[in-house]
Amino acid sequence: MKDVKLDPSEESVYECFACGTVVTAIAPGSCPDCGADMRNRGTPIE
Ligand SMILES: [Zn+2]
Repeated sequence: MKDVKLDPSEESVYECFACGTVVTAIAPGSCPDCGADMRNRGTPIE
């Protein structure tokens, strides 16, 4: 497993655990739709 160090000034894609909403942000915190936890998809926009 790779130890990926995220650049805090770099936006990442996050997906909501609960509703699947996808947001691009530096630190989304919680889902803008339902307030659930977000997870980093680890997929840079190409
Ligand atoms: Zn959500």
